[in-house]
Amino acid sequence: MNHDFRNDGPRKVGHVKEVTSLANPIIKDIKALTNKKSREESGAFLAEGLKLVIDALELGWTIRTLVYAKAAKGKPLVEQVAAKTVAAGGLVLEVSEKVIASITRRDNPQMVVGIFDQRWRQLREVKPKAGDTWVALDRVRDPGNLGTIIRTADAAGAAGVILVGETTDPFSLETVRATMGSVFAVPVVKATPEEFLAWKKTAGVSVVATHLAGAVDYRTIDYKKKPVVLLMGNEQSGLPDALAKEADALARIPQAGRADSLNLAVATAVMLFEARRHLLTLSETR
Ligand code: SAM
Repeated sequence: MNHDFRNDGPRKVGHVKEVTSLANPIIKDIKALTNKKSREESGAFLAEGLKLVIDALELGWTIRTLVYAKAAKGKPLVEQVAAKTVAAGGLVLEVSEKVIASITRRDNPQMVVGIFDQRWRQLREVKPKAGDTWVALDRVRDPGNLGTIIRTADAAGAAGVILVGETTDPFSLETVRATMGSVFAVPVVKATPEEFLAWKKTAGVSVVATHLAGAVDYRTIDYKKKPVVLLMGNEQSGLPDALAKEADALARIPQAGRADSLNLAVATAVMLFEARRHLLTLSETR
């Protein structure tokens, strides 16, 4: 990545750069963020939509660049996020619809796109307390599943998501889309299986692993006595023995019908809402 989305020469506050060419190097660098390698090198990612950008700024995420389509110019909320971006030292680009469509690879693109710093939490900083529920995902592959799980973890009031082993990128365009903004609200941690197992020994948590061969009905488990980590298996191969044997319980969701298993995101949702059932009431929800 050549462009850091900031060093584009001197800019005065309120200055907006107009871009109409797809060949513009800044646009090329922004488009490159759809590739994992560019995201890793730059530590940045794309989020589409004005609401997401507003939410991210409210939650204190660092914006590097704000891109908006000409048609959005003058809208009060767009002006506000543009002012906040400039105040934070970021770049504001006003672009043609053709350019914003090519960034997001959509025919009907959002009018606003934000480029933000990625944010990862370290596992050693994770110190679960009473009432906390974490989700740990073993080698999750599907961006849609990961995004849906982050969104569901947010909705269920989970403390965060731990990605164990080689996983899909939580900051890919597809995952961020599927989170519907929850990527900005849910801490995400990355760990190797060894790091996860070492952490588990001292974290004071109960690891409830879900397994198609699990002997325990997920509804009979006591989710109140300790902070809980719900450990979910890979979409294709399920949970490996090395992780399953270290769990405090191997839970199964009883099934009827012909389906072999539930979709990973669906199984995670079922587990999350059962594990947090005693903590969720309608009066506390929006
Ligand atoms: N072929 C895989 C296997 O044999 O485990 C199927 C994996 S399933 C699609 C993905 C994950 O969802 C599982 O590893 C488990 O964590 C969870 N899961 C799906 N259905 C489940 C069920 N009925 N009970 C417990 N966990 C389930």
